[in-house]
Parts: sequence; C-alpha cells; structure tokens
Amino acid sequence: MTESFSAIVAEDVDGKPVATLKQISNADLPDLPVLVEVAYSTMNYKDGLALSGAAPICRKLPLICGIDLAGTVLESADPAFSPGDQILVNGFGLSEVHNGGYTQRQRLDPGWIVRVPESMSLSETMALGTAGYTSMLCVQGLQDQGVTPEDGPILVTGAAGGVGSVAVSLLAGLGYEVHASTGRIDEQGEFLRGLGASALVPREDLARDCKPLERELWAGVVDTVGDKVLATAIAQTKYEGVVAACGLAGGAGLSSSVMPFILRGVTLRGVDSVMASQARRQRAWDALAATMNREHLASLSETVPMSELMEMAPKILAGQIAGRLIVDVN
Ligand code: NDP
Repeated sequence: MTESFSAIVAEDVDGKPVATLKQISNADLPDLPVLVEVAYSTMNYKDGLALSGAAPICRKLPLICGIDLAGTVLESADPAFSPGDQILVNGFGLSEVHNGGYTQRQRLDPGWIVRVPESMSLSETMALGTAGYTSMLCVQGLQDQGVTPEDGPILVTGAAGGVGSVAVSLLAGLGYEVHASTGRIDEQGEFLRGLGASALVPREDLARDCKPLERELWAGVVDTVGDKVLATAIAQTKYEGVVAACGLAGGAGLSSSVMPFILRGVTLRGVDSVMASQARRQRAWDALAATMNREHLASLSETVPMSELMEMAPKILAGQIAGRLIVDVN
C-alpha cells in the first residue's frame, strides 16, 4: 500500500501552523500498531481553530488535523483489534500532538480506540463526534450528581451549536424539560423546538453582568459558552443544582462569586472529553447508542467533503454553523 492519499496537514510556515489539503503516503503516518481506513471525521469548534490558525491547536508540526475519526481496521499489530473492526477515536491529542482524522488512512495507538457500538453506523458516530460525546459526558455529569427530570428545567447554552444541539435532544429524550439558550432564536428556534426544547432563552438574557444570586431557575445547566453566560447560569441555578461547564465559545473568562456555592450548594462540574478515561468514553458511547434519537441526529447533521473544510473553519468560529458537520474524507 504505497500509493498516495488525501489529508489536511498543518505545516510550519514562517513560524506559524498553516493547514492545506495535500497528498501524503503511508510513509507520512506515525509508527503505531493499528492501521485504519478512515471513512469519516467531523468538524468541531476546535477544528475550526486549528484549520484557521486562530489558536495554536497543533502543537507539533507537521501534523494531520482533525480531532475525530471513524473507520475500519486494515491491519493491527495489537491482538485486541482485527481487520474489519469498526472503530472511532475522539481527542486523545489528535490534531494537537498526534496525527488526526482528516486523512484517508491513519495509524493509531490501541489505547485511544473505542469500538463503534453495534447499533451505530460509522457516519452516525461522526454525526455525534467529539461534540456529541461531550454532550453525553455533560448529561452524565448531571445524572451522576443526582439531577432528575423531577428537579426542574435544564438550561443548555450555545444550544444551536454542535454540543448544545445534541445536549438538547439527549436531555429531552431522557424526560428533562429543556430550555435552550441561543443567539439565533429567529433562525434556529424551530430547529431547537424540533429537538425537544420546551422554551427558548435569548442569549442576551444571560450574556450580561449578573448579580451574585438571581432567581432560582435551573436544576441543571449544560454550558458550552463560558464567561458571562456561565456566570449568569450559575447565579440562576437552583438549590443543590449542577452546572456542567464544557465550553468557551463566548470566552474563557469566569467572573462569579462564591454565593451560589455556599448558600445554594450549587456544583460546578467541569467536563473534559480529550483525556477522559476509556471507561468514561465507552460508557458515554454506549449511552449515546441507547438514547440518541436517530431522526434528530439526521436532522442536526450534514455531510461535507474534506475539500470544503478550509471554507467552513471561519464559519464555525463565527457561530454560523448549526448542529454538526460530518466530514467525508473520501
Ligand atoms: P459550535 O461552534 O458548533 O457551537 C458553539 C455555539 O456557541 C454557537 O453555535 C453559538 O450558539 C454559541 N456561541 C458562539 N459564539 C458565541 C459568543 N460569542 N457568545 C455566546 N455564544 C456564542 O461549537 P461546539 O458545539 O463544537 O463546541 C462548543 C464549545 O464547547 C466550544 O467552546 C468547544 O471548544 C467546547 N468543547 C469542549 C470540549 C471539552 O472536552 N471540554 C469538547 C467539545 C467542545 P447559538 O447560536 O445557539 O447562540
């Protein structure tokens, strides 16, 4: 197998990472035990940062971009995997310090690999991708702290984005009353209601200076935005409510007070998908296979060819993409 194939590679140009679609060969892949024929990858916010060079995501150059991949094992020097196995990888440093998923072939460390759940197709796993798997980590963060549908409404911020839209669908499917906060009510309100949101919250209601404690509204929060939106959500969380914070689409800052924590027993639950343990990943993927509404998944995702990704990067950073982008690498 020596012929060339397509990949998006970030290379050092005058000290900065610049990503381009180019032809590479097996010789450009790392020396790792599992060779995979990649079928799909995804486009996440972090991929937008990497492709546009807006943040130094690729910390080793040259590097194949793409934080997710799904495909079929071609060869494995590790007995845990055999040719024909369907697998996926999310994070674990792909596109940061390890070669990622924007390629037609990749070599992988077996420790990064999750088996595709039996009831899922490769394309469905990438319709979810890191964003969807992170949504489930957030949902499980709320569940693990004991938040039930009877406790009251759940707020999802950045709801029309990838993590947010999957979280809306998952929570509604699990019986929670979901309030979806978005800056695009006119454009995306119907879409969010179709996923199960029972109320829409304008972004500006949250993206403002808040008081240390505000009216108690939320039994739980899935926050993808950070900064003022997160601070307001914390101030509005009910007694012993839980806030799962996973994103920074609105900024990395957080100026809050201890009042919600010491007077209402609020829990701030950080969520990281990149270095999550295999056990946590498998649990999240098994739960996604069991609970994700496949019609919702089809309605919130679209497939784009790898050749169009460079144009998509500024759009995802500008918050102009709704739902999820599956990347067809072939
Ligand atoms: P998307 O770009 O798909 O969605 C982000 C959404 O945030 C947008 O759709 C928009 O929602 C909202 N938004 C964008 N800009 C702003 C702004 N300036 N102020 C307020 N809201 C804004 O990204 P993803 O869903 O892929 O990722 C969401 C966040 O989660 C990102 O910050 C990402 O880095 C992070 N993330 C973290 C992970 C982890 O492991 N912790 C894993 C995956 C993602 P709307 O239009 O509805 O207002």
